[in-house]
Amino acid sequence: MSRRIDILGAGLSGLSAATLLASEGYDVHVHEIRKDSGARFDGDFQGIENWTSNVDFFVEMREWGLDPDEFKSDPFSIIDLIHPDDEITNPVTDGIAFRVVERGTDEHCIDQGFKRMALAAGAQIHYETRKDPSECDIIAAGPKDSSAVAFGEIFHTDHPNIVAFQLNDKLAPGAYSYLIIIDGVGLICTCLWRQQKKSSRYLNETIAWYEQNYELNRRPIKRVGGKGDFSIPDRYIHEGRYYVGEAGGLQDFMWGFGMRYAITSGVYAANSIMGANDYEKQIRSRLLPLIRASAINRFLMNRIGDRGFKMVANYWMRHQARKGDGLEFMKWVYQPGIFRRAIWPIVRFGMLRRKKIADGRTVSRMPFRKALSRDVWEPTSQAEEIGKQWKEIQRGGGGISFTETDT
Ligand SMILES: Cc1cc2nc3c(=O)[nH]c(=O)nc-3n(C[C@H](O)[C@H](O)[C@H](O)COP(=O)(O)OP(=O)(O)OC[C@H]3O[C@@H](n4cnc5c(N)ncnc54)[C@H](O)[C@@H]3O)c2cc1C
Repeated sequence: MSRRIDILGAGLSGLSAATLLASEGYDVHVHEIRKDSGARFDGDFQGIENWTSNVDFFVEMREWGLDPDEFKSDPFSIIDLIHPDDEITNPVTDGIAFRVVERGTDEHCIDQGFKRMALAAGAQIHYETRKDPSECDIIAAGPKDSSAVAFGEIFHTDHPNIVAFQLNDKLAPGAYSYLIIIDGVGLICTCLWRQQKKSSRYLNETIAWYEQNYELNRRPIKRVGGKGDFSIPDRYIHEGRYYVGEAGGLQDFMWGFGMRYAITSGVYAANSIMGANDYEKQIRSRLLPLIRASAINRFLMNRIGDRGFKMVANYWMRHQARKGDGLEFMKWVYQPGIFRRAIWPIVRFGMLRRKKIADGRTVSRMPFRKALSRDVWEPTSQAEEIGKQWKEIQRGGGGISFTETDT
């Protein structure tokens, strides 16, 4: 009889492990608390990055036996980089910098693509079930705590496809906002890396900014969002259980690009169970150095306001002029290097807090930072109008998938 494997969570990390194990004949059961894969998200666009490795991620996926043609993706080689003083420049690469995918329960979403792969391989997925984590071999249940949150609005638009990335400490405290438009549907999202009251005012003000600077003809559909959990555990296998994806702290502290880590760690866990590698060692040698570099960058970003963001944006463009490719900057940012290695102990003690969590693991966690006095400002009249417009749409049935209370 084939060995039974229980996986907690039918998201990207859990389903990639499920696919590999089921294709090798394991009796795989995935237990998901929500009604479907992707239900944690609601049609938001996310980018799968191509800068933490020199190998294109879709090539890597195919080598592992995962088929990226199972879901819709749109490659980008150029972005609008919006500096804090509203200057817009264009990092550009010859290859693919990232691919935009949709998260959710529609057929073309990445979550549904991974679900189809797992089912085709023979895994059984049990939706709307609760399973005791101690009865599972792989924990893939996504984030638990909040170290940062993101709020977005999805809308119809006439604007052509674009990705814009804005470094702005006022509209997105400690972080960035973005605009993604794919085939007539847009998402404007602001990320808050300092905890705020009345978070919707940041989204309203961000939307107002994009409306003034892009011809959007925006017709709102719904509001979405989510949280990110940034913590580095002492061990990735605990009491015989493999912790993968965000449940295992495998998340990018700098920008929150966690999908590649989630899929990769699911694959590593499956291969380890099959005896092909040692999960703990592989995470420590391949993913942890990148995560540490991202944590160091986050530590530095937490210390700079808009003046620092402007320096980063300028440095990015100068780096591109020197190297002839904008993606090289993003690759450089994740390289451990002597400087980053030297300041790691300061980052560990200055930014991360030791915490024992309910399942017995000890993690070094980045707490949700407190608001600063500069985070309080009067909204513009355009932002107030956008807030009123959204209230009207909500009264007419416009959905909201994530609120301040979810944090
Ligand atoms: C607003 C937002 C924007 C983001 N943008 C990007 C981006 O552009 N690029 C990028 O790479 N990453 C992005 N991320 C991060 C990315 O979404 C995550 O890092 C990634 O989905 C983590 O995968 P996972 O498998 O760990 O978790 P998930 O894909 O979230 O899967 C976890 C699953 O476990 C289920 N679950 C939870 N608790 C239980 C339980 N007790 N029992 C059973 N099941 C449970 C959940 O319902 C979910 O289906 C973003 C995140 C947010 C919130």
